[in-house]
Amino acid sequence: MIVSDKPFGDMDPETFRREGYRVVDWIARYFAEPERYPVMSRVKPGEVRCALPAAAPERGEAFDEILQDFERLIVPGITHWNHPGFFAYFAISGSGPGVLAEMLSAALNAQGMLWRTSPSVTELEEVATSWLRDLMGLPAAFQGVIYDTASTSTLHALAAAREAAVPGVRREGMVGRRDLPRHRVYCSEHAHSSVDKATILIGIGHDGLRKIPADEAFRMRPHALEAAIAEDRRAGIVPLAVVATVGTTSTTSVDPVEAIAEICSREGVWLHVDCAYAGVAAIIPEYRHILRGVDRADSVVVNPHKWLFTPFDLSAFYTRRMDVLVGAFALTSEYLRTSEAGAVRNLMDTGVQLGRRFRALKLWMILRYFGAEGIRSRLGEHMRLARLFASWVDEHPDFERLAPVPFSVVCFRSKPKGREWTEDELETRNQQLLDRLNATGEVFLSHTKLDGRFVLRLAVGNLRTEERHVRRAWELIQQLASRH
Ligand SMILES: *Cc1c(COP(=O)(O)O)cnc(C)c1O
Repeated sequence: MIVSDKPFGDMDPETFRREGYRVVDWIARYFAEPERYPVMSRVKPGEVRCALPAAAPERGEAFDEILQDFERLIVPGITHWNHPGFFAYFAISGSGPGVLAEMLSAALNAQGMLWRTSPSVTELEEVATSWLRDLMGLPAAFQGVIYDTASTSTLHALAAAREAAVPGVRREGMVGRRDLPRHRVYCSEHAHSSVDKATILIGIGHDGLRKIPADEAFRMRPHALEAAIAEDRRAGIVPLAVVATVGTTSTTSVDPVEAIAEICSREGVWLHVDCAYAGVAAIIPEYRHILRGVDRADSVVVNPHKWLFTPFDLSAFYTRRMDVLVGAFALTSEYLRTSEAGAVRNLMDTGVQLGRRFRALKLWMILRYFGAEGIRSRLGEHMRLARLFASWVDEHPDFERLAPVPFSVVCFRSKPKGREWTEDELETRNQQLLDRLNATGEVFLSHTKLDGRFVLRLAVGNLRTEERHVRRAWELIQQLASRH
């Protein structure tokens, strides 16, 4: 067994080529036959860990042996997000061009902390994020930065909002300052938990987040927001930011951003819009309206790794106030000083991380490979499939739909006609239905709660999902629901 012909070197080029082809062949087959595996992993807790040695090997091993163990021990512990029957959470998929871009990015191993540590990393990030921004119809005043996830993007948004609102926060912090009032962030009761985490991290505490009630279609009530801000102001609490959501996590509802933006501008409060999942739908002209009012936001996040076929992870963050973000985070050690600073952007100045992966490469390749037209047709098809599924639910007397379907997620539950049900009974019934569905290995769905009701969610968003997969899911749902 030869690991390397030189004791100090990397894998030799010949082995790399041979094993590289083998890996590409594996991936090609995986993409061609994603249904070879059960969609949700069937391993038990600890099973993967116990199948592996407790310690790393003393002597290097051949790559083909390692690859065999990948297939034998690791793949069974994978839940297949690429499976066309993956309808849980937000269905996503990587894509061929995205995977190839990741290989190149890994090969270059470029770390983009400074412009000079790879000008292309910085400049392609500017270009790819501005392409995406323009496709979504957002104004050019928004400058883009790529982070790993929407959670990180929202954290940076709120850190920037704090920088803008709290005098001297960068130097003096928040702790023990008698001169500071309490601060508040507002979001709807349907906003993502990343907003909660961000308020914890920026030092205003979880109590510093106020959840605004939603209307019957799960959208933030602007009047309730207004009233909450007024009440807080009377109590001496200073509004720091409002987070509106376009495409909430449970139902994909759309907050009335225009009305919220109006309140924020009147109150002088930072508006961050979380459209992590749904924002890309605005690439379709008939969906442009979902971002109405977002042009007035201070910052926006959209996740190409959600519904734009980008291998995890890549979150696009936009702000009209890049100077504030940089004011919050720029800090240059002597060893990072460069003569071109000032004339270029250094990515390290735009956030917590020093080092940056070359993520823009995959976004650029994906936008080029599919083109705006190709993206529109794919997103449009996902929404058509979701509406089709919703129509089946609506027509069936033993099922009910519990939320509108603005995009590609359907919230529904089994509720057979002909008797009265308590909420507890319905929860047990639907939880069992969900467990049985997911045990088939053919589909994977998840759930949420709406107004205390247990709800199943079917999310379409995978490049490999076709109408027959959605039909099959509906067949299984009806079969398994009628069996108990
Ligand atoms: C998925 C999602 C998030 C969290 O995304 P991460 O990138 O995993 O942090 C936040 N907000 C919304 C609306 C989402 O759909």
